[in-house]
Amino acid sequence: MRGDSNGVLSCQERERLEEEFTEARTRGRNLSRLRQLTAAERARLEEREESALTRLRNHDAEHGCGR
Ligand SMILES: [Zn+2]
Repeated sequence: MRGDSNGVLSCQERERLEEEFTEARTRGRNLSRLRQLTAAERARLEEREESALTRLRNHDAEHGCGR
């Protein structure tokens, strides 16, 4: 099944970005479960997660493949 000009159904770039985001979130959760994180560490993890999510959202907006 082929997508129309608006994009294909499965987008590899989106998959990659989604994976990045999930990975960042999972890593942050695991780390904070293992030990207490410093404020700086937590901030860095959150920033990572947030920027991954931003990239994913931007991709959706530009590419329109998210829906
Ligand atoms: Zn896409």
